[in-house]
Amino acid sequence: MSVERIVIVGAGQGGLQAAASLRQEGFGGSVALIGAEPGLPYQRPPLSKGFLKTGEVGGLTLRSRAFLDKNAIDLIADTRVTGIDGKTREVTTDTKRYGYDHLILATGTHNFRPPIQGLERALDLRTLADARLLRRELQRKRRIAVIGGGFIGLEFAAVARALGHEVTVLEAASRLLARAVSPALSHRFLEFHRDMGALIRLDSSARQVTERSVLCADGLEIDADLVLLAAGVRPNIELAKAAGLAVDNGVVVNRRLLTDDPTISALGDCAAFPDPRTGRLIRLESVQAATDHARLIAKRLLKDPQASYSAIPWFWSDQADWKLQIAGLASPDDESIEVGRCAVYRFDRGILSAVETINDAKTHMKARKLLAAPEPCTRDMLEKSHYDPDLPL
Ligand code: FAD
Repeated sequence: MSVERIVIVGAGQGGLQAAASLRQEGFGGSVALIGAEPGLPYQRPPLSKGFLKTGEVGGLTLRSRAFLDKNAIDLIADTRVTGIDGKTREVTTDTKRYGYDHLILATGTHNFRPPIQGLERALDLRTLADARLLRRELQRKRRIAVIGGGFIGLEFAAVARALGHEVTVLEAASRLLARAVSPALSHRFLEFHRDMGALIRLDSSARQVTERSVLCADGLEIDADLVLLAAGVRPNIELAKAAGLAVDNGVVVNRRLLTDDPTISALGDCAAFPDPRTGRLIRLESVQAATDHARLIAKRLLKDPQASYSAIPWFWSDQADWKLQIAGLASPDDESIEVGRCAVYRFDRGILSAVETINDAKTHMKARKLLAAPEPCTRDMLEKSHYDPDLPL
């Protein structure tokens, strides 16, 4: 069946990239980009970094109104899709139905809300509206509790400390960034944030948020007049589930990023896809995955129906003057080899799976090349070259 009408649900990083890539690949039909948030699509990474200091909105916008008009991308903002009818190939909003020949789900994630009493007093950091509110709150001196020692909690903590606020981070696990980095780097980030003056409490779960404090499960009370909830996210899968599509910590897609309905694709934070290296179903929360997924879907629809996703994941996080970069994807049990103070190589049974670096762009870029090479890179090969990014293997 020829594809003439493409509807994209979710006008975030991946949804916008899908619309742009469809045009770049020469798609001549209609593109409707329906997003629940108001305004032009914008990037989220600066929201927990520079934006909290500068309030600069200009640089957040991903593409201008003129770009959307020139490329005939019909942005339907401030509009939530409420249902998908796979039989009639339509999505519904409160007021309208939009027919599609192909549908792309790019619905992202929402903040996980753990069962903590009084949690409605805590603020989120996911949207531009959230960041604007937080920025206003940071204008006067605050005692801040951050629930969650992951990327967003720690990026926020670094900014809040730089602005002179008192900051306590409560992390339920026994180390920071536990889902994402090796124990060695968790430890370095712990020291780094403590050196900046944040109080970091590990193995510490919030139980209740009150007017002026956070009560922890171990009985400790942390004074706080501002509480940030940064305890992770959950994929927005409700639409897909209601439409009868397979879901498993994300909208399940195959290597071509197609759901079990061949007229529906999913991408980015909401998609659970097979890891190109291990075949395991994974879900990534990164700009790289969302934009590379979008490009692959556009290519598959217009040029190569068999195109499958094989990009090497990479990620970054800016915390004060540290830039953490991760190339590849390690499992928690993967071996860690520390090389100097700023790089950790991860290995899955002797094969390189990921490289974590701090302020070392050269090693990061080399790692991306090694991970993308057709031949697996082994620990022996790296040892022979003394892990030197300037030496060939
Ligand atoms: P999103 O960009 O989240 O877009 C999803 C959109 O879908 C949202 O606008 C949502 O409102 C909309 N939507 C959902 N349901 C519906 C519906 N039913 N109808 C209509 N619209 C709907 N990644 C990095 O790689 N590096 C970083 O440093 C980094 N920093 C971050 C900092 C913050 C504060 C946040 C929140 C995220 C950060 N990320 C970072 C993650 C990155 O922003 C996401 O991985 C990326 O935005 C995912 O793109 P997406 O298109 O899948 O989802």
